[in-house]
Amino acid sequence: MVNQDPTNPSHALFDQFVQTQTCKEVQRTFSELCHHLELDPRDYQSFYTKLKERLNYWKAKALWIKLDKRAQHQDYQQGKVCAKTKCLVLGAGPCGLRTAIELALLGAQVVVLEKRDSFSRNNVLHLWPYTICDLRGLAAKKFYGKFCTGALDHISIRQLQLILLKVSLLLGVEVNTGVEFKGFVEPSEATDCMCFSSICMSFSPGFRWKELRGKLAIGITCNFINHHSAAEAQVAEISGVARIYNQKFFQDLLTEEGIDLENIVYYKDATHYFVMTAKKKSLLKMGVIKQDFSDANQLLGQANVDQDALLRYAHGAAHFSTGHRLPNMQFALNHAGQPDVAMFDFTCMHRAENASLVRERKGKKLLIGLVGDCLVEPFWPLGTGIARGFLAAFDTAWMVRSWGKGKPHLEVVAERESIYQLLSQTTPENISKNYNAFSIDPATRYQHVNLNSIKANQLQHLYDVEDHI
Ligand code: FAD
Repeated sequence: MVNQDPTNPSHALFDQFVQTQTCKEVQRTFSELCHHLELDPRDYQSFYTKLKERLNYWKAKALWIKLDKRAQHQDYQQGKVCAKTKCLVLGAGPCGLRTAIELALLGAQVVVLEKRDSFSRNNVLHLWPYTICDLRGLAAKKFYGKFCTGALDHISIRQLQLILLKVSLLLGVEVNTGVEFKGFVEPSEATDCMCFSSICMSFSPGFRWKELRGKLAIGITCNFINHHSAAEAQVAEISGVARIYNQKFFQDLLTEEGIDLENIVYYKDATHYFVMTAKKKSLLKMGVIKQDFSDANQLLGQANVDQDALLRYAHGAAHFSTGHRLPNMQFALNHAGQPDVAMFDFTCMHRAENASLVRERKGKKLLIGLVGDCLVEPFWPLGTGIARGFLAAFDTAWMVRSWGKGKPHLEVVAERESIYQLLSQTTPENISKNYNAFSIDPATRYQHVNLNSIKANQLQHLYDVEDHI
């Protein structure tokens, strides 16, 4: 019989786990909770069920109701459909973790590898309405009470990772942080498995990427400490102001500060977060970039950037755009203990030519899929990263489901590639509007989806089988 006593240490541990705000603490409290409840998190098939049985006081129950609603969706067939499937997810960014959750709901054994041992990204992401609805369905508000309250439609990357990490662990996903993936080894065990990469391209052999090159685009992000004072609370966010819509604002900024921008966004979250596109000429004039180069890597390379001038530039833009009303603007620190200001080039964006492939070695098959930024690099002014990243996570889970159901391998890949054709065209307007009905089934999300637009016989090159000599 489960103890309902509010002083029960497992209840206190669970509360700590739900509330805790660092990756390390999440892992520590989770491990203590498992220890205390005598649960083995590696027992992935029954972990969640046993956890619910042993922890059924009101706070935990409120969470289970949410997660059960998702888990009971018919697509997962009560976690039986992929019960024999092993999945490796590379990278515990938002898209890697979102993928891991879906795979766990399908009943697969899921292991995540993450090279960092902390979640430290302050930058704030704008979310499309469907992703807010999706995260609410995963009980985001129970883990982070301020999640998208009122009209708020953004969250810091760090907070998003924390929510998804907690859900992953509760569903029996094994998450290893501080572990860097270096490459695949040839199989020795008699088992097929899956691998899903949300990490950079160099780790995804067999895939090719297309480059989309636009005119030079230089982005700057910066974060200031949020002291949560009344004065700060009154400063309005800027959900995106572009030059074409407010020429006077940008002209005044140039005249008063010498700062020339294409656009600027300001979100108030754990930090005051700003992201802007700056014109090269003004960066040169203000001494941020020391010398002009046509090559973007050289132009924005460490040696060619005056860090103090960059801080002044970012500070000036943030101060001006908030009407000089943000008091006491101190930079928040990044993971390296430095002022959290970064300049980056987003002139080129990459898109993988294919979303999946199969490798066969010694008769064992490895299905590899790409999700998140390494599938389609997002264009930050449109806030496409998480929205398209999560769509791809669901599509990937759908692919694994088809595999788990025994569909012929190349047909699984063909279906995945047919769906992938739609991803880059998605906008908040053209995806289905019934967000509550979204599931891993593509037909619930894309308005017009043809699962057979690409045929298996067109994709022989995505089945990589070793040469038997
Ligand atoms: P990542 O978040 O990059 O995660 C990848 C993870 O893999 C990292 O944790 C990394 O440590 C880990 N990793 C890397 N290599 C290895 C390895 N070898 N072994 C193990 N682990 C490894 N998106 C939005 O939706 N809305 C926005 O408003 C928005 N604004 C943005 C503003 C800017 C300036 C930028 C640059 C991006 C913005 N984005 C936005 C994009 C968004 O940040 C990304 O789409 C999102 O973080 C991608 O998540 P991911 O999981 O694919 O990758």
